[in-house]
Amino acid sequence: METIYCQGCGVKIQTEDENALGYAPVTALEREDVICKRCFRLKHYNEVQDVDLTDDDFLALLHEIGDHDGLVVNIVDLFDVHGSFVKGLNRFVGQNDIILVGNKVDLLPQSINFNKIKHWLKRVAKEFGLKVKDVYLVSSTKGTNMEECAFELERLRQGKDIFVVGSTNVGKSTFINYLINRSIDQHDVITTSYFPGTTLGFINIPLDDQSSLIDTPGIINRHQIAHYLPKKDLKVITPNKEVKPKVFQLESDQTLFFGGIARLDIDKVDERKGFVCYMSNDIHIHRTKTDKADLLYDQHLGELLSPPSEDTIDEVPPLEPHTFQLNANHKQDIVFSGLGWVTVPQGNTSVTAYAPQGVRVLIRDAII
Ligand code: GDP
Repeated sequence: METIYCQGCGVKIQTEDENALGYAPVTALEREDVICKRCFRLKHYNEVQDVDLTDDDFLALLHEIGDHDGLVVNIVDLFDVHGSFVKGLNRFVGQNDIILVGNKVDLLPQSINFNKIKHWLKRVAKEFGLKVKDVYLVSSTKGTNMEECAFELERLRQGKDIFVVGSTNVGKSTFINYLINRSIDQHDVITTSYFPGTTLGFINIPLDDQSSLIDTPGIINRHQIAHYLPKKDLKVITPNKEVKPKVFQLESDQTLFFGGIARLDIDKVDERKGFVCYMSNDIHIHRTKTDKADLLYDQHLGELLSPPSEDTIDEVPPLEPHTFQLNANHKQDIVFSGLGWVTVPQGNTSVTAYAPQGVRVLIRDAII
């Protein structure tokens, strides 16, 4: 078979192993623009596909970035920041400057202090060992701040290549397509040429005669909730517009269910307090007493506590408890990676947060 490259990600097409990078069915080879299954699914179904990058491939990808002189743009999902950093990037960026782009700003309540969010992102980047030159908050679907960001990237790259990196689902493709549509007059035309010497699916989009914007494959972060929930349920829990905070006045031994996907037990709180939930407006939040919670879950999962729906119950991993002691003198967030977060007022509070097995739950200083 002659060597064919995917028009979406540039990887070498193969027809043998359906689960490996670059697979396309034989019938697809008859088309003029062949794309691999991973790109096909993403393009037509907006679906993250679990293509395993081997550790070697991943290291090679990072090396390739480190060995080049360019501007690195790391895109993170503002709704799932810890879930979307590319771990290990810090060891490979070398001398290259890093710009952090917080995407999906349209999902955050518009009343928030955006400067505070920028400072927070810088701090989180530091935790991941990244020293970022600047931070932009954008919405690549709505176009918010995109012109300003594009302008600054053009200035900061000083004629060099731009490498765009990010985990899957952070909106990397949407971001890049925006830049392409802005610079080229034709929509949906992606001119690709291939990054020599890699098998990794780098898309090389010329910016001018000397330099390119290089899209790297989305890294799969195993903690992201997208990998654990059926597509139907994911659609309900993924916010698609500004999240409206919901406040619950809670005391010890009360529980909140977020559909049937997550649960928060207030084990002990020094007084009745307002807990603020930031999640998709479509998630039904149900309050109950903790001693009734297990029974409620057993009897009503899939109906009152939904998603999951009755036909997807078996596909969702069991809920796993995480216990936290919050005694800060400032507000903190309990983050259910990919689902949202609950802001806990200052004071002594013990909680148990449940999420599907594999999904990360963490505590951070409140961002709002
Ligand atoms: P990629 O896997 O990083 O390339 O992500 P995509 O560009 O395919 O986007 C993943 C999902 O996030 C899609 O459902 C997009 O519509 C959505 N998305 C991308 N950018 C934004 C944004 O700025 N705001 C919102 N609300 N959704 C976005």
